[in-house]
Amino acid sequence: MLKVKNVSAGYDGIDVLHEVSLNVNEGEIVSLVGLNGAGKSTLLKTISGILPAKKGDIYFDDQKVTNHSTDSLVKKGMVHVPESRFLFPALSVKENLLLGTAAKDNKFRKLKSDELFNFVFDLFPVLKERSSQRAGTLSGGEQQMLAIGRGLMSNPKLLLLDEPSLGIAPILVEKIFESLLMLNKEGITIFLVEQNVSISLDISHHAYVLDLGKVIMSGTGKEVLNNPQTQEVYLGGF
Ligand code: ATP
Repeated sequence: MLKVKNVSAGYDGIDVLHEVSLNVNEGEIVSLVGLNGAGKSTLLKTISGILPAKKGDIYFDDQKVTNHSTDSLVKKGMVHVPESRFLFPALSVKENLLLGTAAKDNKFRKLKSDELFNFVFDLFPVLKERSSQRAGTLSGGEQQMLAIGRGLMSNPKLLLLDEPSLGIAPILVEKIFESLLMLNKEGITIFLVEQNVSISLDISHHAYVLDLGKVIMSGTGKEVLNNPQTQEVYLGGF
């Protein structure tokens, strides 16, 4: 579904990604893990058209989409939920969700706005309870659910998620990862960037390890999790 081929990208003339290649197959959860500054967010931004690729190509559903606008990619069914969440703090939960419906008419699942709201509220009941509360007053975990929920309102087939567990209490991290499994069962493909290595590799069909802008390891989630190098560098050497 998503193919990244030899992609290089960066900022101010300095490359952060060096010829990165990876694949995300339809129906899978694929993780990208790596230390701080490895270039994980930079890769997501390049895939979703926020940052230009300087070299290489990106394919979505076998179509070349390198450097296409974020808006056109959302319409094709690719949605990026960024690390910083970008919610509108003064607007209500429901208003934030409504803002995600702009590009809902892609071909994956023909859902009307009401059905999308129900889908998101079934997944995250707390958002229904708090639908008229201002987004800025939600807890960190609730804000993360809202950011994912808003992404879902555009009816994506591929969800790019940047650190959904960042700054969230462990109990809510579990809840969010359970929701990702449920979304995946619904047929949504997930490309997940995480620093929470053990939990993300545990739920992933495939995984890639990025180090200094290069893919240094790949395999099934379990293979990468059980690799001695992963254990030592990313999990503190158990
Ligand atoms: P983290 O896990 O800490 O979020 P990451 O793997 O997602 O890290 P990136 O955020 O992609 O890493 O950053 C990779 C490198 O690019 C870092 O050295 C960072 O300082 C640099 N970088 C990121 N954003 C910018 C920017 N807007 N301008 C210049 N350099 C940037």
